[in-house]
Amino acid sequence: MPQPHALIAGAGIGGLTAALCLARQGWRVSLFEQAPVLEEVGAGLQLSPNASSILRTIGVLPHLAKAALQPRGLILRRARDASALLTLPLLDAESRWGAPYLVAHRADLQRALLETLAAHKDISLMLGMEVAGFATHGRGIRLVVKQGAVKRTFEGDCLIGADGVHSFTRARLLAAAGLPPAQPTGRRQRIAWRALVPAEKVSADLLLPRTNLWLGADTHLVHYPLRQGKVVNVVAVVETASAASAKEPFWAGSGDPAVLSRRFSNWAKPAQDLLAAAPQWRTHPLVAFPPLPFWSAARVTLLGDAAHPMLPFLAQGAAQAIEDAAALASALRKPGNIEAAFQAYQSVRLARASRVQAASHKQASLYHLKGPAAFARDMVMRFTAPEQALARYDWLYQPQNYPQDHLT
Ligand SMILES: Cc1cc2nc3c(=O)[nH]c(=O)nc-3n(C[C@H](O)[C@H](O)[C@H](O)COP(=O)(O)OP(=O)(O)OC[C@H]3O[C@@H](n4cnc5c(N)ncnc54)[C@H](O)[C@@H]3O)c2cc1C
Repeated sequence: MPQPHALIAGAGIGGLTAALCLARQGWRVSLFEQAPVLEEVGAGLQLSPNASSILRTIGVLPHLAKAALQPRGLILRRARDASALLTLPLLDAESRWGAPYLVAHRADLQRALLETLAAHKDISLMLGMEVAGFATHGRGIRLVVKQGAVKRTFEGDCLIGADGVHSFTRARLLAAAGLPPAQPTGRRQRIAWRALVPAEKVSADLLLPRTNLWLGADTHLVHYPLRQGKVVNVVAVVETASAASAKEPFWAGSGDPAVLSRRFSNWAKPAQDLLAAAPQWRTHPLVAFPPLPFWSAARVTLLGDAAHPMLPFLAQGAAQAIEDAAALASALRKPGNIEAAFQAYQSVRLARASRVQAASHKQASLYHLKGPAAFARDMVMRFTAPEQALARYDWLYQPQNYPQDHLT
């Protein structure tokens, strides 16, 4: 039987992980990335056990180990006075969920994936190649790729659209089914302000290995140390009533610190000091889409943000892309009917990813409560036992049972 050949659009976290999962089970993979270089963009990512277990199975974790940090816990605080509402012990993740809870810089995860990829001669990563068209024919897929002004075509057995939140592949699949393009969810605009603050500019307690989540009215703040405590990753999310829109590239806009500081002016001093210490802010409008009716059609399927763009309030976008990659490889592990395998992949993944999308959305409302509702939430949190709170995450963090024998 000839070696099966997958074409993947997009070399983000999802595309790189899918390439690795498929190559480990004997596939040839051609990965097309529109960016001319894989830049070290982004900031911190939390990698929950449902994702780290897969990264361990496919051999990425050893490449990430030095750069990643294992937070001891997640501490939730009230914005106004910094009082602790609840602490979740994350060091127990390995014994509870079978894999560690990690935080890492996105660029370090990307580097670890690329290092692992380098050992696979059957993966070719082509940069500066924008996927611009595709057609299914009897034996597979013909892909049209733009390289500068030149158009080239490539042949493969199937196409995996891992081309992110503004996915070209998704737009084409929906259009082919006579459906309108996916529209962002919600009537509120949420902007994430992201910064990396050098360790020497913050107090020692901010460098303790833990994830901090502060809750305020229409705002929240997340911070944790990264890169052996050399920097603190900070994400401040602010919400306004204007409609959600989002056509900015990842990690693009720069933010005026005076605007942010006004928005956080009634927060406790340690939070204000941390925000003031940031050398530079990047702003990023947060987009989420309602679940798609389908991900797969014939020999084309979607993966990662292309399939299920979600709000980052459960820190699951990359984690779900990693789960997709493992599930897709699992569905394709028996040679033969790719179309049936893509349908099987969709049926195991669409329901779970949709649940995570919905839960992330719900989390936004909970984090940003104000007035009596916020008071009630805080009271409930103060009286919640850590074990009870951890149990609420079991469905999410428990590694999924996508048969992975083929990946080991
Ligand atoms: C503020 C914030 C915090 C977050 N925190 C977390 C977290 O803690 N944990 C977590 O798991 N997730 C988190 N996420 C989400 C996470 O970053 C994304 O869900 C994840 O990176 C999606 O990966 P992806 O591979 O699907 O898409 P992307 O990373 O967007 O990759 C898509 C790739 O496709 C390329 N591409 C696009 N179009 C084409 C084309 N036509 N041809 C070729 N290439 C193309 C792009 O250049 C890009 O490289 C966060 C997101 C935000 C905004």
